[in-house]
Amino acid sequence: MLGPVILAASRSDKMRRFISAAPGTKQVVDRFIAGESVDDVVPVIRDAAAAGLEVTLDVVGEDITTPEQAAAARDAYLELVGRLEELGLGVRAEMSVKLSMFGQALENGHELALANVRPVVEAAAAIGTTVTLDAEDHTTLDSMFAIHEELRKDFPQTGCVIQSYLFRTEADARRLAAAGSRVRLVKGAYKEPASVAYQSKPEIDKAYVRILKTLMQGEGYPMIGSHDPRLIAIGQELARQAGRKLDEYEFQMLYGIRSEEHIRLAAEGHRMRVYTAYGTDWYGYFMRRLAEKPANLLFFGRSVLTK
Ligand code: FAD
Repeated sequence: MLGPVILAASRSDKMRRFISAAPGTKQVVDRFIAGESVDDVVPVIRDAAAAGLEVTLDVVGEDITTPEQAAAARDAYLELVGRLEELGLGVRAEMSVKLSMFGQALENGHELALANVRPVVEAAAAIGTTVTLDAEDHTTLDSMFAIHEELRKDFPQTGCVIQSYLFRTEADARRLAAAGSRVRLVKGAYKEPASVAYQSKPEIDKAYVRILKTLMQGEGYPMIGSHDPRLIAIGQELARQAGRKLDEYEFQMLYGIRSEEHIRLAAEGHRMRVYTAYGTDWYGYFMRRLAEKPANLLFFGRSVLTK
């Protein structure tokens, strides 16, 4: 019940100002955001690698309003690529991007986002790693998939995300389950209307299993983005049924969520990639994490009230 209210608040500037300034917010934000700068995140990447984990790095930010901000987002990712090159981890440290941050919602946004993201994908390829395009709300997806297709002509390893709560996703998965593609399947984190998306958890979970089956039986590289123990077990079983080896799919989870499970899966020999977000514009990302689990909101409320 609270999830949709929190997701609505994630689009409100008034709430953004209120929550960002509230005492106690930082303590809770720190659970989900690995730091403010690239300097903060480098030790986190090193620790993850030492623990046998892989990472995908997200410079937080979305809802930008000017082309200059979009160019700044591109530059922040290019700075990150420079640091990843020094670390020399190759594809063990890849990047996730939100096209909204690259200007997708501005005038001529499709072209602008493509022009801004291309140098990042190119720089990533030059150091032996790759980029995954995150999925945002359903109105942005035709553009995201078109940009994904365009980028794959030169950089076939570019990944994308699909969301099981959307009715369209089963068809997208069939199209994407082709040789060389890298597809992360998640449940979906945005507030979507009943005209385009399942609204109940059982329906979203059932769709997740159907779509994962398509990906596992296809020829691409499935990335299972979930913390749900039931779906993780089903993912392992579907991979086994499809005859996939341990390096022919991977699990992905978010930094700060079920960290013991990251270690357990890696110790079992699975590829386990931790989606590690950092930066100062954390509001939208943080609010989606609160919406996913009401207990986080209680923790947040307590933290603010006791400061
Ligand atoms: P749930 O049923 O929501 O959660 C299962 C269990 O995991 C919960 O019972 C709880 O123990 C734990 N858990 C889940 N979320 C939290 C939380 N916030 N705090 C504490 N515990 C929690 N969504 C998009 O729309 N687009 C994307 O591009 C995208 N990228 C993602 C990348 C990765 C690697 C992951 C893991 C998720 C991504 N998401 C994305 C978010 C996703 O859509 C879900 O909102 C989120 O993963 C919660 O769903 P779940 O599968 O973990 O299952």
